[in-house]
Amino acid sequence: MAATKLSIIGAGSAAFSLRLVGDLCKTKELAGSLVSFMDIDESRLNAVYVLAKKYAEELGVDLEFETTTSVEDAIRNSSFVVNTALVGGHSYFEKVRRISEKYGYYRGIDSQEFNMVSDYYTISNFNQLKFMYDVAKMIEKLSPKAWLLQAANPVFELTNLISRNVPINMVGICHGHHAVDHMIEVLGLDKNKVDWQVAGVNHGIWLTRFLYEGKDAYPLIDKWFEEELASWKPTNPFDDQLSPVAKDMYEFYGKIPIGDTVRNGSWKYHYNLETKKKWFGEPWGGVDSELGWKWYQERQAEVAITMQKVARYFQENPEAKLLSRETYDEIVSLAKDEVKEEFTQEVFKILDPEKKSGEQHILLVNALLNNEKVDLVLNVLNKGALPGIPDDVAVEIPVYADKDGIHPYQVEPGIPERIKKMYLMPRILRMEWALEAFLTGDRRVLEEFLIRDPRTKSYDQVVKVIDEVLGLPENEEMRKHYSNSRK
Ligand code: NAD
Repeated sequence: MAATKLSIIGAGSAAFSLRLVGDLCKTKELAGSLVSFMDIDESRLNAVYVLAKKYAEELGVDLEFETTTSVEDAIRNSSFVVNTALVGGHSYFEKVRRISEKYGYYRGIDSQEFNMVSDYYTISNFNQLKFMYDVAKMIEKLSPKAWLLQAANPVFELTNLISRNVPINMVGICHGHHAVDHMIEVLGLDKNKVDWQVAGVNHGIWLTRFLYEGKDAYPLIDKWFEEELASWKPTNPFDDQLSPVAKDMYEFYGKIPIGDTVRNGSWKYHYNLETKKKWFGEPWGGVDSELGWKWYQERQAEVAITMQKVARYFQENPEAKLLSRETYDEIVSLAKDEVKEEFTQEVFKILDPEKKSGEQHILLVNALLNNEKVDLVLNVLNKGALPGIPDDVAVEIPVYADKDGIHPYQVEPGIPERIKKMYLMPRILRMEWALEAFLTGDRRVLEEFLIRDPRTKSYDQVVKVIDEVLGLPENEEMRKHYSNSRK
């Protein structure tokens, strides 16, 4: 039997799975591990399997791979379970968004103050929450010592739901804080001389510490905004870390919002497309506008298809070398448009034998298993790490991990009071409402959520939109769950 079994649920998310496999291949202490890919989509599973196997073989790394469509089989005997599944896929989000917009909820009922990210649903996402909760309970039953690494969204709600209610080792993982590296690059700083910390909740983190050669580096951000912002234009819809909205939030809250936090401001930046364009820049108005999200969706679909084509190429040409310039050129020549070429480049970047992906999962596994101490930014229950935030709320904070677990660093300086009172606490309350609805099945909680939404003009509007979402065929279980409490 393999030394360690690591399972990836929703492994058909190929770019993500390959990043983890790439990191595993480059972590010599984890040689001999078994990676179990689990997904309900067999063609996606097959693509990941073919590429992962080929890559490990070429690097001469001793890793075993298996595929399964059974969650139980994936979890049994596992030491680590990474959950990245998206139940219902992106098309479910679009259905709910369409219904919502019919009733006056621009970008959907799940787009809420401090949670505008277009695939981070909390109100209508019963199937996703239930699946993640069930996986956690299955881990408790089948592999009670295993760690659950929760990567699928909504990470904030799910980390709270699971770590409060299921007695397993679990942590929420997000890569949003990498935006700090981007900022360091744009500011032209030497990364090794920067001392930084971020803290808050998932998709609501703030640059609490930013020192360059030991000195406050915030004035460098001020200078950049002063000199460069006027001529700034986003290079893609995700390019918002140094945008007008980031500056405005920084001026109001006192610290700069990091990564997805910039997408998650108040309604001031999100009323409509025109408003979004003003704050996030032309032509998209940020990734969560109708234009930005379309760009992302189309790209995602191309990425999945290209991945399968690349895998098929290797099935048909088993002698071709994955890590050769010739193969690369041939695959690129097969790509008919820019997106596919761009993605082919992306695949080869992921497979670069010299570089790790920057994702935190395998670093964490290696720390817990082999005591390879590492600094990370993770989502864990607060337990006093951030004063003024309840102990049982999952916070995203700097930590180190080793064989004894995950240990928070002191956040110094702390989070400004305004961020706590006007951003974190309202966001935390919405997480609590989402869990209250999910755990009680009380439809009135869903209704209250929307009654408190500035887009709501009447109770009738609330009833209609919820009825129609519950009426979707895939929401049968959700409908039953919320059926007892309607007065
Ligand atoms: P995707 O739809 O491309 O991939 C999700 C995979 O889940 C698909 O292969 C699908 O077949 C599979 N799946 C669906 N139902 C399943 C089930 N019942 N059992 C097993 N597998 C199932 O989605 P994506 O864009 O890759 O996003 C996946 C999730 O990761 C989303 O929740 C997204 O928001 C999240 N995400 C997290 C981060 C982070 O840093 N934490 C970053 C990006 C995306």
